[in-house]
Amino acid sequence: MKSLSCHVVALLSILAITLSLTNASDPSPLQDFCVAIDTPADGVFVNGKFCKDPKFVTVDDFFKSGLNKAGTPNEKTGSVVTLVNVNQIPGLNTLGISIVRIDYAVNGQNPPHTHPRASEGLVHFQANVGKYPAVAFAGLSSQNPGAIVIADTVFGSNPPIQPNVLAKAFQLDTRTVMDLQAKFKK
Ligand code: MN
Repeated sequence: MKSLSCHVVALLSILAITLSLTNASDPSPLQDFCVAIDTPADGVFVNGKFCKDPKFVTVDDFFKSGLNKAGTPNEKTGSVVTLVNVNQIPGLNTLGISIVRIDYAVNGQNPPHTHPRASEGLVHFQANVGKYPAVAFAGLSSQNPGAIVIADTVFGSNPPIQPNVLAKAFQLDTRTVMDLQAKFKK
């Protein structure tokens, strides 16, 4: 019995050390809306964008059409991401939300990635929706979530990471790593 409780204590200790809470979100808005504009004469700068004078805000500042249309998947990954964030809908500034549409060609994929400023919820639809065999719509908890694509970041970094380091990390031979670096070189 004693050894069991020792194991439990040891397990809890390991979990306490290795688990940590993460929290990524936009700052809370200070006002109802702040329609983004690039260069105001005398604007207020909020969440990386200037606010349009509320007197000149229109419904178009909160609207974007075209998400019903499929994009054209690129040949490398077989997918295409259509973004609708603060850069497409300026009224999203300070509201902490954005959406994307992803169209997939046959055997296409959206390569592994992370969003540094957001969590993402995704719904996939298969077949008979649009022009391509699969489409997905995602909601993200940021007006501009960013995306770090793992392969691009690891193998396409500039300056490049030493091939022998990546070879050991990914259990590959150095030649394979150099081949991957050539593919992802920007
Ligand atoms: Mn994503």
